[in-house]
Amino acid sequence: MNKKNAYILIMLLIPSVLFAEKVKVRVFSTAKITYTKVSFENASYSLVGDNVDTIASNLKRGDFVELTPFAKEVVVSINGQKKGNFSNVTFVSYQDDAYLYISPKGEKQRSYEDNLIVSALNNKYLQLINHVEFESYIAGVAQSEIYGKHSDIFRIQAIISRTWAMRNMEKHKADGYNFCDNVHCQAYYNRCIREDIKQAAIASLNEVLVDAEGNLIETPFHSNSGGQTANSEDVWKAEIEYLRSVQDTFSYGMKQSVWTKEFATDKWLNYFAKNHKLNINNDSVRNGLVNFVQDERKAKIMGIPLTTIRKDWNLKSTFFSVYYYGDKVVLEGRGYGHGVGLSQEGAIRMVELGMNYKDILTHYYTGAQVVRLGGEMPEELEQPALQLAYNHNTNVENNNSENEMVNLIAKANTSAEAVEYKRPSQTTAKVAETAKVDETNKTKRSSDLASRMLSTKKQLESESSNKNTNNENDWVYEW
Ligand SMILES: [Zn+2]
Repeated sequence: MNKKNAYILIMLLIPSVLFAEKVKVRVFSTAKITYTKVSFENASYSLVGDNVDTIASNLKRGDFVELTPFAKEVVVSINGQKKGNFSNVTFVSYQDDAYLYISPKGEKQRSYEDNLIVSALNNKYLQLINHVEFESYIAGVAQSEIYGKHSDIFRIQAIISRTWAMRNMEKHKADGYNFCDNVHCQAYYNRCIREDIKQAAIASLNEVLVDAEGNLIETPFHSNSGGQTANSEDVWKAEIEYLRSVQDTFSYGMKQSVWTKEFATDKWLNYFAKNHKLNINNDSVRNGLVNFVQDERKAKIMGIPLTTIRKDWNLKSTFFSVYYYGDKVVLEGRGYGHGVGLSQEGAIRMVELGMNYKDILTHYYTGAQVVRLGGEMPEELEQPALQLAYNHNTNVENNNSENEMVNLIAKANTSAEAVEYKRPSQTTAKVAETAKVDETNKTKRSSDLASRMLSTKKQLESESSNKNTNNENDWVYEW
């Protein structure tokens, strides 16, 4: 086989082998569904019972199917007529632009593309699984996980989400599907309906993040870093080379960059005495708990992990300082989320500043690289591609697992890309330069903090009851 043919093989075969495959995503996974209605848009659907019986074909706009669980089976009726009981039913679509509406009782209606598999979880509830093209799932996740005006922010989210998904294909293997649709896996609350997000996902097709060895990386992200991201080991146990704390002024001045909470000093101190056996009668211990400053991120307060404090006190982040005002302590916090990996609002700001999506990703995932699996290999870098084609064929013969193949492809591409650029040092310089230019945010943040401190003091002085303005449900991204 000559080089050209080998390259064409990669272009054609690998994406189709790996990514045109469908994934199974359990939707409405946190809801207890006792009834749902399904209706159709744009094309006809077939309904198949127990994988073999065609219950109906040519279901189209205007038709509706109602499903309820009974004795471990799904009871089906179409347009008001009962059709029978099945252990599972599958809505099968034959057209690319087809989608269906799912309207479970008590839940907001959503729409999803491709197929839908419904079974009874037990006697009481229905389980709904969207059997969907992998890239359609990624576009839906990008739409659910981030906001923004610029298409590159969705490209960034798509790359993160694709990398995560490829790494975690077997997360729900025991449950019989690949992913759930909530933050346990990745939010997937609807099919992607925004054209700009679809285009961004298509532009990022097959792009993933890999580490220096060419393995897909873990891609945690959070809402806002507060100006500095956290080391992985300060939040979880593992020290991961590409999840390092970095300065992140881009997160300043954004929607979730600061927060405030206040507690009665007694309550604050007693918590440490009761839960962590600290001697709060000791002056230095007491002082360490009520006067605690984080200019830079710390991992502990008086030896107690800040992650524990965040959880117990329901705080938006671990990046907070504590100030003492007599009978009250005020927590001045920065950011929202665990702080590891990519700051979504920082990335939004960087995109607004016109920065390249690869530089943004490698700013947050230190030393990682963006590679495109299987395609767009420059002419002079064909050698790794040849190797890849060879390995690919070997793999198919040996029937190796998909994950191994993914890693193999990632490795081949990394070696190809490594020839082209050594990204980390360039990125660091470029990011630093942009950060310097981006003084607006920093100034805004400082004045924000100053004015908030002032108003907090005033409120305390006038003894007015201060209502906490943080809305905990506003942005919850827990990875
Ligand atoms: Zn899950």
